[in-house]
Amino acid sequence: MTDRTGISPAQQAAIAQAETWGAHNYLPLPVVIESGAGAWLTDMDGNRYLDFLSAYSAVNFGHANPVLTKAVADQLTKVTITSRAVFSASYGPFVQALAELCGKDMVLPMNTGVEAVESGIKLARKWGYEAKGVQERHATIIVMANNFHGRTTTVISFSNDEVARHNFGPYTPGFRIVPFGDLAAVADAIDHDTVAVLVEPIQGEAGVVVPPDGFLPGLRRLCTEHNVLMIADEIQSGLGRTGRTFACDHYGVVPDLYLLGKALGGGILPVSAVVGNRDILGLLHPGQHGSTFGGNPLAAVVGLAAVELLQTGEPQRRSAELGEHLHRRLGAMIGNGVEAVRGKGLWAGVDIDPHLGTARGICYKLLRRDVIAKDTHAKTIRLAPPLVITRAELDQAIDALADALAEALAEAHAGTS
Ligand code: PLP
Repeated sequence: MTDRTGISPAQQAAIAQAETWGAHNYLPLPVVIESGAGAWLTDMDGNRYLDFLSAYSAVNFGHANPVLTKAVADQLTKVTITSRAVFSASYGPFVQALAELCGKDMVLPMNTGVEAVESGIKLARKWGYEAKGVQERHATIIVMANNFHGRTTTVISFSNDEVARHNFGPYTPGFRIVPFGDLAAVADAIDHDTVAVLVEPIQGEAGVVVPPDGFLPGLRRLCTEHNVLMIADEIQSGLGRTGRTFACDHYGVVPDLYLLGKALGGGILPVSAVVGNRDILGLLHPGQHGSTFGGNPLAAVVGLAAVELLQTGEPQRRSAELGEHLHRRLGAMIGNGVEAVRGKGLWAGVDIDPHLGTARGICYKLLRRDVIAKDTHAKTIRLAPPLVITRAELDQAIDALADALAEALAEAHAGTS
């Protein structure tokens, strides 16, 4: 149950209702949001918070982004859902623009991130059987330890997070887990049945874990040498979050398939996609894969508008420039309540010194200082503000973090004296 001390009766009632009627598959912070604009969220009582989570990077372009909301509003009164049984006027422009952004031939649009992952897995297996010549039902896909690719039965089958897996078996076979960043382990795991390596270029939920510099280029080389598809899950790391369009860009690496989601829907709708070349996506024929809502007219206009924002380069530039400032300031906190900082652009995993308590405890202190951030695992806070944040807003949140850490340090000293 959510700790509701110190919040208004109206918010307490809203939380009680949510917890009575909604399944408890999340542990939300004790705040009830009513609206958002740019980098800010406002609760039921009119209190404003800087959003340092961005809905796990779905809101890279900011809350209520005027370009995106206008695109959606204009489409709302035209047509919203047609299904793919017919063509829609907005579908073609969306898939062409997204393919071009990725430098690829074709797009398979879906809705949630995990559907893009599932679709990538299906495509890789089909490619393995039909193009590579792997014996049917023998395909294996290499994945990384501590991965997070979503929550479906197949995807949790290759997670090593026991909380996510426990009592959800039986699991889908066909996956091999190797340590993230360990090229030799990948090389060892590849055999004639390997059809793909699936990797988050930077592991988000694991704590914004950046691989050693040579890992992704080495992976690319190995995949090419062994005729294995490299699948980059850029659902959280992509679309400007790290200061480049894709996290892979930092390493000069182009995967065979991009998996995209989150910010592709502009923080408005679930829009996801698999993007690759015709030799892989062209293997799909009518009836073999689909989704009622995938690529719908409303999703297509918001996806196109999101791609057009990225084509300007502005979100990537802001993330790179402000990210440098963020990392410089966070780096200066190491030794003062912070053990380590990782990340790129406006994306950071901050490990809290365990003497100061848990990362969740620090998130509570941040909430009281008007900043919403989320822990991932016991000791890491993930910081991922909307890329539209200003430098002054960024500094305000970093000051709040420094203040929260100072308070936790004082409490720790009081507890031990
Ligand atoms: N892949 C990655 C890297 C993610 O971070 C997530 C969600 O956090 C997913 C896939 C799943 O996306 P969704 O929650 O939209 O299904």
